[in-house]
Amino acid sequence: MTQRITVLGATGSIGVSTLQVLALHPERYTVYALTAHSRVEVLAAQCEQFRPQRAVVGTADAALVLQRLLRQKGLMIQVDYGTAALCEVASAAECDTVMAAIVGAAGLAPTLAAAHAGKKVLLANKEALVMSGQLFMDAVSKNGAMLLPIDSEHNAIFQCLPSTITQQTQQVRNQGVAKIVLTASGGPFLKRAVETLEFVTPEEAVAHPNWSMGRKISVDSATMMNKGLEVIEAHYLFDVAVGQIDVLIHPQSVIHSMVSYVDGSVIAQLGQPDMRTPIAHALAFPDRIQSGVAPLDLAQIAQLNFELPDFERFPCLKLAYQALQAGGTAPAILNAANEVAVEAFLNREIGFRVIDQLIARVMDKLPATSMSNLDSLLMQDKAARDLARTCLSS
Ligand code: NAD
Ligand code: MG
Repeated sequence: MTQRITVLGATGSIGVSTLQVLALHPERYTVYALTAHSRVEVLAAQCEQFRPQRAVVGTADAALVLQRLLRQKGLMIQVDYGTAALCEVASAAECDTVMAAIVGAAGLAPTLAAAHAGKKVLLANKEALVMSGQLFMDAVSKNGAMLLPIDSEHNAIFQCLPSTITQQTQQVRNQGVAKIVLTASGGPFLKRAVETLEFVTPEEAVAHPNWSMGRKISVDSATMMNKGLEVIEAHYLFDVAVGQIDVLIHPQSVIHSMVSYVDGSVIAQLGQPDMRTPIAHALAFPDRIQSGVAPLDLAQIAQLNFELPDFERFPCLKLAYQALQAGGTAPAILNAANEVAVEAFLNREIGFRVIDQLIARVMDKLPATSMSNLDSLLMQDKAARDLARTCLSS
């Protein structure tokens, strides 16, 4: 039996890497649905190659364009648009596995829908989990969904944990785990003089030294908010306390993360900095399949370096730890303010250093609440975005 896959965010960096892995294994996987926000030409070409039953785009106009392109190619594919349609293809009975690779809060509703429908959820969209935290984890466990991390660090940790844990619940308490060590490249500004950071351009910020990724996560890597979001992600995925999660700068991005045990053992996962490895791991779990990634040549790399992160250089990392410590909706507020700030930076409305200042201001002014349900969460998300935009305009 083939696994039937929905790829949410098929036209993005993770989406394209996912389709590259799927294309290597047509006997194992078929594509049920592909979604994209606005890049309809790319989506039409993907539909031609993978022949999904359904395609979803962001707007009615985009849907009309896609329908025309598909007709020209002689393809009969149901085309829909909007959030409700995303949730439908993420929870449909005809699909087994959902790759959640939409960027930002826009991915929350469909990813949550996949969890509610008990799917195998491959989670790249870390913002969805950062926002909804325990609500999301509860939806996974109550509905018998299976959650497999795609983020390279979390996929590494998953591989370094005892398999008895990872196949059933993901609780690591009382299993001899002392610490989870998330590695971080440090991004493009690791060595740049701190006083010059206010002048960096979006082009410099998205030029990551090791990974090729979408623009938003690339800026998050430059501020290290990405690592901050990953600390929060690790807390929920693996049920570890904030004090058990360390960040270690490792500029070569060869060790993707480590688990340190009470007996002194440290287990690490290594590989090329290429997302096709964690994608192939999660798609095939518990089997292993080819990913198309070249083998790791350690003799050629020769050296692996490590250093502690500098919170003065990377205040966003500290803000994320603070949000996790505060709990409730604080991570959602952090995430919302960050999304607004990064978009404004990419649009050249604010400087690079205003990103962390804006997030700190919003967190300071908007008190976090407890997270009782999705509605209260979405209200806080909106309040944080509104406040961030008001701060920006004044
Ligand atoms: P990207 O910008 O390259 O792609 C984003 C995808 O989401 C596109 O297909 C786009 O059409 C879709 N999208 C954007 N806005 C949308 C909206 N409002 N509604 C519906 N769809 C929308 O991003 P990416 O780099 O592929 O990252 C995707 C997710 O994976 C992010 O959450 C990111 O943090 C995470 N992630 C990415 C990498 C990486 O190497 N790129 C690594 C780890 C985690
Ligand atoms: Mg990562």
